[in-house]
Amino acid sequence: MKFATKALHVGQDPDPATGATVPPIHVTTTYTQSAPAEHKGYEYSRSGNPTRDNFEAVLAALEGGPACAAFASGLAATNTLFNTLRPGDHVVAYADVYGGTFRLLDQVMKPWGLDASFTEDTSPDAFDRIMTEKTKIVWLETPTNPLLRCLDIKAIADVAHARGAKLAVDNTFATPALQQPIALGADYVVHSTTKYIGGHSDVIGGALIVADEADMEAVRYHQNAAGGVPGPFDSYLAHRGVKTLHIRMERHVQNAQRIAQHFEKHAKVASLYYPGLKSHPDHALAERQMVGPGGMVTMVIKGNADDCFKFCKRTKLFSLAESLGGVESLLCHPARMTHASIPAEVREARGITDSLVRLSVGIEDADDLIADIEYALNG
Ligand SMILES: *Cc1c(COP(=O)(O)O)cnc(C)c1O
Repeated sequence: MKFATKALHVGQDPDPATGATVPPIHVTTTYTQSAPAEHKGYEYSRSGNPTRDNFEAVLAALEGGPACAAFASGLAATNTLFNTLRPGDHVVAYADVYGGTFRLLDQVMKPWGLDASFTEDTSPDAFDRIMTEKTKIVWLETPTNPLLRCLDIKAIADVAHARGAKLAVDNTFATPALQQPIALGADYVVHSTTKYIGGHSDVIGGALIVADEADMEAVRYHQNAAGGVPGPFDSYLAHRGVKTLHIRMERHVQNAQRIAQHFEKHAKVASLYYPGLKSHPDHALAERQMVGPGGMVTMVIKGNADDCFKFCKRTKLFSLAESLGGVESLLCHPARMTHASIPAEVREARGITDSLVRLSVGIEDADDLIADIEYALNG
């Protein structure tokens, strides 16, 4: 089965009891047993729930892995993966990872005994240089947030494997519709399903997909033992989002590409980052590694910080809000919003200035979105 067919048919068997074409949302916490320890495979909904199972099945199929575990948030998924390690183990990651991932490693896992090292360089060699014999997981995100750098999954997987470590890829920005990390050598794929997977800005969730079924045992154990599971309603909503993922991503990419091309050389725009543009430093890698360059566009507005704040307040269709990946367009000022906890000098050194804005381009009509940005720039 190809991607679009899997998105609609895996984890969607009609309900055996009633024939309901859309499987019911199983709100139950518990399951009636016919005799002690005799049951139909379900005992208690933290340990297993059919609605969650359906969502896990479709996501595993779309990422090309044998199994998936769903969580209450992207960070719960990430935390679970790190919890399968032991004190004294070591993780390496690209420095500009999602802020919550950095905070988890730096403030929660470090005191617990898990070491982490970060590289400011996207090259595979840079990862190799900071690995030690204790490194168990190499963690990367691609494209990165908010500068949309792309990292070479296959090359970094080779580096990780040569040193006996596993590669985890946070595939939230690309989604399996545009990028297949497991096919490129990743051992784990992590998602904030809050973003494109759910796709409608109405449910927080996360997921962890493994490439090797043997790795699911520890993940499943921690999912149940620590309990960061999604409820059945959340699992259902996220699953409903999956059914249109491929169509939405196509439109996100089309709209983002048009916006990027329109504003790349605009008089009020100092620079624009989009992996689909030839000017992007990782354009060739993005073309090789991704089906499409994604729905995120980052721009630096000409002028000072006040000019940029003015822009942020003037858009009418782009809502000024954190998060991304919903059908509606969002606008974020990373320095003041998502990246505010990073010290100003570190932020500036990475290029996340007070004039930088990140667009999560929605699936509205591209002409209207372009007109909205034009209006806000010309304030
Ligand atoms: C949002 C996000 C996360 C965290 O997910 P939550 O669902 O908010 O916990 C992790 N990684 C990336 C790339 C994200 O955008």
